[in-house]
Amino acid sequence: MRRDTAEPVPNRTVSALNSQAFPHWRSPAQLCQNAEVPRSADSFPSAASRPAGLAEPAGVRALVIEDEPKVADALRRGLQREAIDVSLANDVESALRLTEAGAFDVILLDLMLPDGDGLDLLNTLRGRHVQTPVLVLTARDAVEDRIAGLDGGADDYLVKPFAFEEVLARIRALLRRPNMTETVRLSVADLEMDVSTRRVMRQGHAIDLTFREFELLHYLMRHEGRLVSRGMLAQGVWRDTARSTTLDNVIDVHMARVRRKIDLPGSTKLIHTVRGVGFMVREEPADA
Ligand code: CA
Repeated sequence: MRRDTAEPVPNRTVSALNSQAFPHWRSPAQLCQNAEVPRSADSFPSAASRPAGLAEPAGVRALVIEDEPKVADALRRGLQREAIDVSLANDVESALRLTEAGAFDVILLDLMLPDGDGLDLLNTLRGRHVQTPVLVLTARDAVEDRIAGLDGGADDYLVKPFAFEEVLARIRALLRRPNMTETVRLSVADLEMDVSTRRVMRQGHAIDLTFREFELLHYLMRHEGRLVSRGMLAQGVWRDTARSTTLDNVIDVHMARVRRKIDLPGSTKLIHTVRGVGFMVREEPADA
């Protein structure tokens, strides 16, 4: 892991550093009312104290697309402290160049960029079959904007100002790899899923799914023939234990996208809505 020695970080607590970089920073203590443990900002957490799943042997590569220098720099420093390799892009053009040049494990995307809209960039990336999980960072907190982001292929979003710990928690959830002890191949009628390669085929044709779409379909297929409620999806796919009301919209948007890709016109409908209850994947109509 590369440590930035050119800019020594003064010995301040993490939240002091954060509130300097983000004027509206809310500390994790303010957000979740947990007692905040001051941590020296220039000491890297040991492997033992590092959040599980972030520092993997292969090394996690993140692309931060953010034009505000202070925000970009704070994200870079924070992620590097977690042993994440960070590339920075401050506009659409450099982001496209970087995604062409190399693969990333996660992309953090600001929506308002100097040379274009982050959502258009996301559309372009998805159109180029870049399936990297995308966490949208946005100051637009209107529900419609969040839904637009998810419709555009984002996997999750975070509204500014955010606590850095929240960024880490979202990244951790996006990077959670499928459990290798699980069944590797699933199939329902002519829909096939290889969990280890994350490939999905319908009628022999490969289907591109984003990270979250894959997780959603995986959950449904694992529960073939059984009712899956929105609450189950919130927990099993979004790892959301304290369910928010906006999550229902988020689930519906993702479900609609998965449906459009899986249940093509002319093929047998496999994803069924059980009105007022949830969803079910099966070959026969769920309510027959
Ligand atoms: Ca911006």
